[in-house]
Amino acid sequence: MKIHNELLELRKQEKRITSEILNKLQEMENSRQYLEMGYNSLFDYLVRGLGYSEATAYQRQACVRLAKEVPELKQKIDQGSLTLSAVTTAFKHLRKKPVEEKRKILASMENKSSREVTALFLEPTPTIKIKKTEYIDKVHLRLELSHEQHEKLEKLKALKSHKHSVESLLLDLIEKELKSYEFVQGKPSKSREGKIFGAPKSKNPRQISKRLRNDVLKEAHFKCQYPGCESDHFLQIDHIFPVRKGGNQQRQNLQVLCARHNRHKG
Ligand SMILES: [Zn+2]
Repeated sequence: MKIHNELLELRKQEKRITSEILNKLQEMENSRQYLEMGYNSLFDYLVRGLGYSEATAYQRQACVRLAKEVPELKQKIDQGSLTLSAVTTAFKHLRKKPVEEKRKILASMENKSSREVTALFLEPTPTIKIKKTEYIDKVHLRLELSHEQHEKLEKLKALKSHKHSVESLLLDLIEKELKSYEFVQGKPSKSREGKIFGAPKSKNPRQISKRLRNDVLKEAHFKCQYPGCESDHFLQIDHIFPVRKGGNQQRQNLQVLCARHNRHKG
């Protein structure tokens, strides 16, 4: 009985600390101090800055984000009528819903088991499904779409050109996407040279040529260059000395920032 009572006491403390941490994280999120410290999101800060596992960090972030809109959430977590994992499940599904609906759904989740909460959000319509089989010489993909998705695909096919089959359309899209990330490596061939360098240079300092953009990205190893940040997502080319203050698009004035740090820099 003694050990049990000690554990009950520790559990109480654990709950109190969790609640304190959530409050402090809320302050951190509101002040955005983590951006200045080189983290690109609260999640990044939780993982790299505080040493949480990614799964736990996601839970904490979900609570902070939801509690910002629905402040009574924290009280419910403290009381135990909502668990962190239930809130995390809800967060994924409620993201785009209006606040009032979030509030209503969160209230309906109270005192439910995590299985019941998951069932609340089960989607009746299947989304895209791909079955992959790998052979030595090729990969076989079997694609399953809802009727709605299929209609969209057909629409795109019709818009692109009548000559497209689904197969050629898909290959076309892949090629096009890849090309937009491609480097102009080494010396371009003559025909390309004419295209790229023959065009008059842009006078608009906000316009950066594809080649220059690729160079800047490559030199930055496709990572945000804000001190401490390692994000490789949503990268943007930033003018170190801002255009509105007379900054130009010379190589020395360009750096790579993730969208969060670019916005933070202002
Ligand atoms: Zn960054």
